[in-house]
Amino acid sequence: MSAMLNVVEPATEQILATVASAGIEETDSAVAKAKAALSGWKSISPPDRSRLLRSLADRMSDSHEELALIEARNAGKPIASARGEIGMAIATFRYFANAPEQPFGRTIPVAGGMAMTVREPLGVVALIVPWNFPLTIACWKLAPALAAGNTVVLKPAVLTPLTALRFAELALEAGIPEGVINVVVGPGSTCGKRLVEHPDVAKVAFTGSTEVGRSIQAGAAGTIKRVTLELGGKSANVIFADSDLELAAASAPGAVFDNAGQDCCARSRILVERGAVDRFLELLEPAVKAVVVGDPLKETTVMGPLISANHRASVASYVPASASIAFQGSTPNGPGFWFPPTVLCPVAENDPAAVDEIFGPVVAVIPFEDEADALRIANDTVYGLSGSIWTRDGAKALRVARGIEAGNLSINSNSSVRVNTPFGGFKQSGVGRELGPDALEAYSDVKTIFYSTGE
Ligand code: NAP
Ligand code: MG
Repeated sequence: MSAMLNVVEPATEQILATVASAGIEETDSAVAKAKAALSGWKSISPPDRSRLLRSLADRMSDSHEELALIEARNAGKPIASARGEIGMAIATFRYFANAPEQPFGRTIPVAGGMAMTVREPLGVVALIVPWNFPLTIACWKLAPALAAGNTVVLKPAVLTPLTALRFAELALEAGIPEGVINVVVGPGSTCGKRLVEHPDVAKVAFTGSTEVGRSIQAGAAGTIKRVTLELGGKSANVIFADSDLELAAASAPGAVFDNAGQDCCARSRILVERGAVDRFLELLEPAVKAVVVGDPLKETTVMGPLISANHRASVASYVPASASIAFQGSTPNGPGFWFPPTVLCPVAENDPAAVDEIFGPVVAVIPFEDEADALRIANDTVYGLSGSIWTRDGAKALRVARGIEAGNLSINSNSSVRVNTPFGGFKQSGVGRELGPDALEAYSDVKTIFYSTGE
């Protein structure tokens, strides 16, 4: 009999569900099922595969509210955010539903015949995802992987497996053949590690911490697996004195406190041009205090709890009694892993709060002197995922956007992720890109076929 796993609701600390926990044996069996399903899935014609992916998007759409409710309760996120995230998961399937018919090859003139290129699926692909946007991040990987003709083993985080399990049922209802999508709920240290080392897994697509990403890249070397890694961040929100300060300040809390700061794109460093710091903090304070922290299932809630007691302890360690708290929001009393929105200022450049990815609702406000100094501070990190630039000077905005070593920059906005644009990190924020027109390439290999014309 397999071990059981208690899934906890972060807002109540109560057990939400109990699910069977997989081990090595179940992981191997999921890989074997995916391998057995591969030739059938690959040979479904491109238009039929498109139809199946569209039908899956339709089933998810019928279950939009149910999926959002599961996600809101399991991950402790506001219901309005959960609805948006499930909407994005569905949109990802709709976007990649067209993909089976899109990978055009080339014909290349060569001596003695014709050469042509085609794209082939990789085989069985393992998808290892975190707890912060459970189904959405899974679908960023599932949709292109399936569109390209691969079969998959999805390993959700043990803290948040519920939407993945429901998704697998919807996929079967939509007509996706048995074995094409396999969900393994078990710890990363056993099931995840096994997927990374398994000889029948061709690729690992991973989202999570830089630390685990490093071990995945090393573990994949043994079998020369392809890897894409979407890792951590310490993104800068760079605010120049000539910007629309009101708008920049009103937008800054959402850029770091959304999902209680448990967002790889969180702008957890706010860099403000020295002359504008006082005015900016004056504008930021009411915006931070207006963040409604509470029951994720209430429509008016803006921020929920953190994912677990352990994670709350880790976040709290960045705000010791000696920390310079400029101001702080409030949280409900009683059960739940709450932590208030917290703004630190001043913060020393080498303070862990200015260096580490806290992954919680804690932001450091850091003054800068000029454009060069802003770039120096923004790039003084091992990470390079995203960032924002606020200024009315268009040329300066573009210079700084080009100068910041990160994969996703926004000018006069904090929005980073769209289904139809590439997303991913520079430096230790990752390898490869998800979403957008290039994502399919990460789930297929190029094959060259030479056809002799007998010359
Ligand atoms: P994590 O600890 O790295 O875990 C991510 C996933 O990897 C989980 O499913 C985990 O399993 C699994 N795992 C753990 N150890 C493993 C191993 N040795 N081999 C294979 N798999 C293993 O990250 P997290 O704590 O869930 O999430 C927070 C981190 O993710 C943050 O650093 C954040 O920046 C990053 N993140 C990045 C992005 C992005 O797109 N760049 C998006 C979201 C989050 P279990 O937890 O089930 O044991
Ligand atoms: Mg972890």
